[in-house]
Amino acid sequence: MIMDMQQYIEEAEKALLHTYNRYQVVLDRGDGVYLYDIEGKKYLDFCAGIAVFALGYNNKRYNDALKAQIDKLIHTSNYYYNVPAIEAAGKLKKASGMDRVFFTNSGAEAVEGAIKAARKYAYLKDGTTDHEIIAMEHSFHGRTMGALSVTGNPKYREAFEPGIGNIRFAEMNDFDSVMRQVTYKTCAILFETVQGEGGIYPAQEEFLKRVRALCDERDILLILDEIQCGMGRSGFMYAWQKYGVKPDIMTTAKALGCGVPVGAFLMTEHVGSHSLVSGDHGTTYGGNPLAGAAVGVVLDLFEENHILENVNQVGAYLEEKLDELARKYEFIVERRGVGLLQGLVFDRPVGEVIAKALDGGLILINAGANIIRFVPPLVISRENVDEMVEILESCL
Ligand SMILES: *Cc1c(COP(=O)(O)O)cnc(C)c1O
Repeated sequence: MIMDMQQYIEEAEKALLHTYNRYQVVLDRGDGVYLYDIEGKKYLDFCAGIAVFALGYNNKRYNDALKAQIDKLIHTSNYYYNVPAIEAAGKLKKASGMDRVFFTNSGAEAVEGAIKAARKYAYLKDGTTDHEIIAMEHSFHGRTMGALSVTGNPKYREAFEPGIGNIRFAEMNDFDSVMRQVTYKTCAILFETVQGEGGIYPAQEEFLKRVRALCDERDILLILDEIQCGMGRSGFMYAWQKYGVKPDIMTTAKALGCGVPVGAFLMTEHVGSHSLVSGDHGTTYGGNPLAGAAVGVVLDLFEENHILENVNQVGAYLEEKLDELARKYEFIVERRGVGLLQGLVFDRPVGEVIAKALDGGLILINAGANIIRFVPPLVISRENVDEMVEILESCL
């Protein structure tokens, strides 16, 4: 039986756990920067599956690489080596400048691994287990218990306390607030180079540099979460590369597989050889041949298609257009962000605007109640930006 959109939505609400307030649309297929629902309506996509589908939909090279891998081998296990994962790890090292890679299935799991690596590093130094991690207010690191424990949003954490413990929160871009949380037990300082869900707050260069110096001085590990702001979205492959401040451990996911669920945590050689060893960490799926093939082809296409150049050009144009909107409408407070990770801050909730935009054929998302977040596929053009602004303005 073929159902219409409303019937599918009713079926969904009978079967799926109610953890989302979904928009009333059933998406069916994608092409380039456009999505189509099951009734054939076309949408310009400025969400990209939450900063995931960087290359645009229905990319032939990407699809062919995955199909070829499916016909060959989808999964083995980490008891054996596989070529796609080996190649992907090499390319990821090159793109990031980090030395050691562990593939996960999601962003949250990458954060979990980063926390474990930091705790093990500290444990190997003094044999104790009560080390502390400093994370930031307004941060978002994922929904599993460890990642949730370092997420600086009490609303997400409250019902699930106690978390993993020994987490202290500081204010992003306020070095003194970090200093107030540092103790001789601090093993890591963790934050997103550009806060995403929490409201698009980029780290300031000065802050990053001072935290890096503090970490060096006290042998504290700097962990940067690049799950949303990484993979080219800032105009650099990883946003920290812009500041020349290298983390000891970093996380990446979202656009890493462009839709195939894969993440990774990476570390320097020094941390790699002074933390997790055989038996300390594992995953059944992580870095399987299908995920490896996805990461490999994504990183190839980033180079071949000059994704970073496009982000720098179109990102600057998007900034300009959003700044214009912020000047024009008194209820828009400001624009914040980097490259193709931008936020438009309103003085009121944006839910209604986003719903209207959807009706008008534009997919947008929020970041907190008052901020519209722009995280389009990284292949968008200036014309797509113009098209977006036209629809958005008609909804204001
Ligand atoms: C999305 C996100 C996560 C969690 O990733 P999942 O794949 O949803 O588990 C963690 N950190 C940041 C910065 C994110 O944006």
